[in-house]
Amino acid sequence: MTAARSLPSIDREQIRARFALSYVPERHRRIIAGQEVIVHCHHYNSRIQRTVEGVADIDGKGIVRRASEQAFARQIAYAIEETDDEATRWVVAEELFAELGYGRLDLSKANEGVVTQSAGHFVEGWGVAFGDDRKPVCTLAEGFIQAAFIAIEGQEVEARETECMHCGADACSFTVEKTGAAAEVPAAPERIEGVSMQEHVELAESNIDDQAIINAVVGLAIRGTEEGLIPAFGVYLANTPADVYNGIAIEFVEEMSKLGRMESATRLLNEAGESCAMNTFRGIMDSPEWEALIAPMLQDQSDTLFALVALSNAFGWGNWGVTDHEPGESLEMVSFNGYEALGFLESRGKASEAQCWMLQGVSAGMMELVYGEGSFADRFGTFFVEETDCIAKGNSVCVFSVEEA
Ligand SMILES: [Zn+2]
Ligand SMILES: [Zn+2]
Repeated sequence: MTAARSLPSIDREQIRARFALSYVPERHRRIIAGQEVIVHCHHYNSRIQRTVEGVADIDGKGIVRRASEQAFARQIAYAIEETDDEATRWVVAEELFAELGYGRLDLSKANEGVVTQSAGHFVEGWGVAFGDDRKPVCTLAEGFIQAAFIAIEGQEVEARETECMHCGADACSFTVEKTGAAAEVPAAPERIEGVSMQEHVELAESNIDDQAIINAVVGLAIRGTEEGLIPAFGVYLANTPADVYNGIAIEFVEEMSKLGRMESATRLLNEAGESCAMNTFRGIMDSPEWEALIAPMLQDQSDTLFALVALSNAFGWGNWGVTDHEPGESLEMVSFNGYEALGFLESRGKASEAQCWMLQGVSAGMMELVYGEGSFADRFGTFFVEETDCIAKGNSVCVFSVEEA
């Protein structure tokens, strides 16, 4: 936080104004500084990271770092204005990191090879979810620091966390080593806007006013505090570029496939989505916002599930809806423009298998949350999902079919 104090001439509030959210209602997308961002909580984010970094035979940290570096280089470059001097550019990067909910970085000595972090989304996330696992956890910040060097200095660097608050340090510390190579902001993949088939699909009825929920959630300020965290709904939220999630998931599945372990990779990604649905949505259902806005609409048990779907549509995951539902037994959902399917198409072309690992897990997790009994551990895996159609395979929509396992 000392950097903030030593640069009184830079108005951080003004810089934050560059990151105003724009929500695209017809596509259910959230855009910050030119990038589509997805709202997820610390349970999902730390679980995905732990999944990818936890496999001994692949370079999981490298995967997380690369995906972050590529996407954040574009976002930081977009947020910088031509008239910004160098000190301001570094503050833009610090404030973007904070705005998105990742924490508070001090980049004022980055060019001398030292970066510190006084609060971190992943520090909080791992502390809550995986308190026993003591190793540095701020890999996404490493990628972000590398991205800042590309966007601000045009240089390739290696940022590595040497001390982490998760391991008991007072602050996280990173070393930065310049490789000597120049680096350019990577071009974004050519975007596919999504398939608009909504008029051909009949969604199931409920007592939920979807639009009222979406409007309310889009109206919430899901922005980092001064210390760069977003405590809300009983969890820590963050706004992560879809390109980061897709870069991580796609490369993880590819690396695991080379080892003949694709199935284990996709199961782990499903479980992260399943855990996200149970933990995030449980937090939301216990929140005062839910009590005020959504509880009055609930008449049937299944209305809870419909309300959760409306909420997720406001989180930027894309537009999906329920087409068929037997309470407690089965669920069929259709997704029109999930970020996983589109991200795969954009970066790899047509897939031979369905690619929406997160939505698959979430659709099972919602059934387990709404209809399951006992602890989350008891409910885990009690519903089975199959994604029969996927936009990434060339189908017009993604279709998720969930049944009791
Ligand atoms: Zn750390
Ligand atoms: Zn799909």
